[in-house]
Amino acid sequence: MNAEKLRSFLKNRLPPEINRLILHAAERAASQNLYLYLAGGMVRDFLLDKTPKDADLVLTANAILFGQKLFEKTPYKVTLHHRFNNLSADINGFKLDITSARSEIYPVPGKLPEVLEGDIRADLFRRDFKINAMAISLSPQDFGHLADPYNGLTDLKQGKLSVLHPKSFQDDPSRIWRALRYSERLGFSISGDTLPLLLRDAHLIPLIGSDRLWYEIECVFKEAKPENILLKAEETGVLRNSLPFAKADKWLADKFTEAREIYGENVSPEIYLCLLTARMDSPQADSLITRLHLGKHLSACLKDCQYLAEHREELDMAALSPSRLYSLLAKCTKEALQAFYVSADNPLVRKNLLLFHERLSAVKPYLKGADLIALGFAPGPNIKTILAELLNLKLDGKVSSRIDEIDYVKRRLADDQT
Ligand code: ATP
Repeated sequence: MNAEKLRSFLKNRLPPEINRLILHAAERAASQNLYLYLAGGMVRDFLLDKTPKDADLVLTANAILFGQKLFEKTPYKVTLHHRFNNLSADINGFKLDITSARSEIYPVPGKLPEVLEGDIRADLFRRDFKINAMAISLSPQDFGHLADPYNGLTDLKQGKLSVLHPKSFQDDPSRIWRALRYSERLGFSISGDTLPLLLRDAHLIPLIGSDRLWYEIECVFKEAKPENILLKAEETGVLRNSLPFAKADKWLADKFTEAREIYGENVSPEIYLCLLTARMDSPQADSLITRLHLGKHLSACLKDCQYLAEHREELDMAALSPSRLYSLLAKCTKEALQAFYVSADNPLVRKNLLLFHERLSAVKPYLKGADLIALGFAPGPNIKTILAELLNLKLDGKVSSRIDEIDYVKRRLADDQT
């Protein structure tokens, strides 16, 4: 590992402002006789020559005090986590974390004392996998030096994932999802020591808090091929223990693939989650909403999918009037409609959804509320009703111009007055 290689990684693989910030942080730390390390996923990505998604720095002192000064005159949003003595900065969408190596020490400048190694060692021991438990020094005297107390590099070279100790999944069962995710993303196998631990501890997944579990599942959905992770989760009992009514099989894998073919590589978590619940009944989908403590929008998406499934028969009719189709679909979220389109195996359902998407959803009457008032209607709820009538007439081709609409409104007004 040499300093030049690290410098060129920071320069070429990171946005320029992150590179500058990290080097600036390193200088500041050195000037205060503190040690600063790159740690976790970024070290892994450096060694694999991949572009990191975020940066994780470890400081041998109070990270909050240090980070506050570092970001003092910058425009970035900084979040403090006092409980863990950590700080997180959002730099134009790139996350930079600075954590405190737990016990604070003040090493002698210019040399790497044993006690420091002990300190970073303890920090790395708390990490999920050996490949994520390495650090690289940013201190001037050993810039680029790899601290690898648990032989993460060996695992990395052998393409395997192992936990640091047998109780790791018991300490934090969310690491089980992380294992499946890294294994798929990096093409690594779960080591012969770790897989039995994962299988043994999968029943502890229900202990993961709702928000945390959703975070991990959302991370799965952000991977290139989430279906492969879900298939592994099914095989290992992880899915069953996480979301009891969810099923990952060939149908689901095909639908995930098709969603990417239709909507592009970055399919939203909403669409994937709707597909995962597509074969559930309403109480099962509701229990998933509760288990994951889903927010308003995600819950609405799942509920809309249930609603669409309940109207599947009607949506499968060739003779459905455009106004009826509109009234069935207009209240649904975009993502629910997109997911339902993918999940629908019947061509007629798809045809109707496309008709709505491409044509009907944009239809609006020519007249507005103010026009109705100008034509003689009293302001009030009636206006909304007439506008809805105009929309339906236009959707069904019964009026086609502003004049047609005015004629209709005048007739309607005359009827009201008689
Ligand atoms: P990604 O590329 O997905 O962001 P990452 O390795 O950077 O991968 P993060 O979730 O950003 O993952 O976490 C940063 C680091 O924090 C990890 O590399 C790991 O060392 C540690 N970590 C995260 N979650 C856990 C956990 N549940 N248990 C132990 N260590 C964890």
